[in-house]
Amino acid sequence: MKITKIELYDVALPYSGGTYLLSGGREYQSFDAAIVCVTTDTGIQGWGESTPFGSTYIAAHARGAHAGIHEIAPHLLGRDPRQVDRINDVMDDALVGHNHAKTALDVACWDIFGKSVDMPVCELLGGATGFRMPTISSIYAGDPEDMRTRVAAHRAKGYMGHSVKIGALDSEGGPALDAERITAALADRKTGEYFIVDANGGLIPETVLRMLRLLPDGLDFVLEAPCASWRETLSLRQRCPVPIIIDELAQQDQDITQIVSQDIADGIGLKISKAGGLTRGRRHRDICRSAGLTVSVQDTVGSDIAFAGIAHLGATVPERYLRCILDCRDMVTLETAHFNAPVVDGGVLVPNAPGLGIEVNRDAIGTPTQIWS
Ligand SMILES: [Mg+2]
Repeated sequence: MKITKIELYDVALPYSGGTYLLSGGREYQSFDAAIVCVTTDTGIQGWGESTPFGSTYIAAHARGAHAGIHEIAPHLLGRDPRQVDRINDVMDDALVGHNHAKTALDVACWDIFGKSVDMPVCELLGGATGFRMPTISSIYAGDPEDMRTRVAAHRAKGYMGHSVKIGALDSEGGPALDAERITAALADRKTGEYFIVDANGGLIPETVLRMLRLLPDGLDFVLEAPCASWRETLSLRQRCPVPIIIDELAQQDQDITQIVSQDIADGIGLKISKAGGLTRGRRHRDICRSAGLTVSVQDTVGSDIAFAGIAHLGATVPERYLRCILDCRDMVTLETAHFNAPVVDGGVLVPNAPGLGIEVNRDAIGTPTQIWS
């Protein structure tokens, strides 16, 4: 089997909640998706998506994803998409780094692989565990009582996990405001719910330690991405009684091994486009499992195609290690594909269909901006 054609689509995904607010004054109203369709000489086609969370979240941006795909795509023509590790070798030889550009192409190859053997991608990744994966909401930073209301709204929709964003500068209210946000968001906590308090790298050890001292006792949460750098995170780790989760800093394979070797954290946010796709994502999954780290399988953001990748990888993580998956479909208003994985009883099961199990809505994604053949 050989890749004969690659199409690239540029698709705008409006944020479903209006404006998304993140620490450091970052705001997002819409996200640009790079979606690829990879065609083979057998006629089998595969789809993949990479949608950076704006250009101020990590070192990834939408135009960079498109430019990276332009660099890589010609080198993949004639290659066997089922050899996913070799495909990644070719991509690495064509372009150093830029994981997010490689993601869409890697996921499309897994979709083809699954369809070629009439099996869901999760079976090729090790096999589905069969339990309903709890979904996590994304509660942007705002007024504490408003955040409490938004947590309640997501709870009513069946979410079992909540990612509560914090990271106020002193001039915005500082540690006191963040402590109020956490207290309000956790005020109505139900049994079995899981809370991530996520600063998206917006705090420093000093502000985290001040904030923790302002919280009432007994709140059950983990602290995600408290600081932007490894040094700050290591410094905080030695003085922080709350479990720490690494998100933005965990991108390359060596980042995951560093977390393990230096005991920097208790879990990671495994975002597929940040990792570089499902091939690298499964490696991160396995390192974490070996080290006893929890994982939340997510993506930076994305539509139905990205969510299918999340669901297939998440389905292969044993229950005691999988904290939640991100239903990014809920964050955008455009449905790029039909993926039959509804949230039922607070969780998601992967449909038993070949490949990613998606039916792409070609009307929604428009015409390709570039074709290689
Ligand atoms: Mg995060």
